Amino acid sequence: MIEFEHVTKAFHGKAAVSDVSLNFARGAFSVLVGTSGSGKSTTLKMINRMVDFDSGIIRFAGEPVTRHPVTALRRRMGYAIQSIGLFPHWTVAENIATVPRLLKWPDKKIHSRVIELLELLNLEPAVFYQRYPHQLSGGQQQRVGVARALAADPEVLLMDEPFGALDPVTRSSLQQEILRVQRAEGRTIILVTHDIDEALALADHLVLMDNGKVVQQGAPDTLLRQPANDFVRGFFGDSDRGIRLLGLYCVKNLVRLGEAPSGG
Ligand code: ADP
Repeated sequence: MIEFEHVTKAFHGKAAVSDVSLNFARGAFSVLVGTSGSGKSTTLKMINRMVDFDSGIIRFAGEPVTRHPVTALRRRMGYAIQSIGLFPHWTVAENIATVPRLLKWPDKKIHSRVIELLELLNLEPAVFYQRYPHQLSGGQQQRVGVARALAADPEVLLMDEPFGALDPVTRSSLQQEILRVQRAEGRTIILVTHDIDEALALADHLVLMDNGKVVQQGAPDTLLRQPANDFVRGFFGDSDRGIRLLGLYCVKNLVRLGEAPSGG
């Protein structure tokens, strides 16, 4: 659905992304993982043209992204990032409805989509619909941010460290909710994280980046069991950690298949 061919981007003469070729499949949960500064965010932002690239081609639905008008492209791609806050003077419902209102959806359709998303993200509509952002916890605000990015039913959801500042328990429950949303709506998601556990808990397709390059990509268990080189082996740590992470990955897939209690 989204393909990169030999894409390169430099800032002030220094390469941020070098000769990256990638394929993000429709309906898959893809995760870009790597240390800070490895080029993950730049890669993500080139997809919705928040950052222009220097050379190569990025295609979305078969067409180079540079041929899609920017506003049309961004309407087809939700974007959730921890630092994009909610509008403080708007209720939860108004925040979630931001893009549908711009698209002039009828009020009834907006209302039912807001209710649907609140339920999907475990926010009781009767409680949260009319609340203001300052009345929400950090985790609830993040959920509303994700609901807002999903509201107009984008074909792709791009997420950049969306759970960054949350405590581990809230973070883990949001990860489960995002997985549920992805499963329920057959959503194409591309998420950036530096957190190895998060990457393995979520990814169908894992892309490990270092120094602006893709070091290895594939199913998480392929990277764990058949690391392409010492860097990949070292990134995922010693064998004990690898085995524990592989366990996490298996649990996630059992949850996905509905063979374990929902919520993990
Ligand atoms: P990551 O998301 O993996 O932390 P980034 O894609 O944000 O990495 O950054 C990759 C490299 O590009 C880093 O060296 C970073 O400093 C540089 N970079 C990213 N954005 C900009 C920018 N707007 N201006 C200058 N340099 C940038």
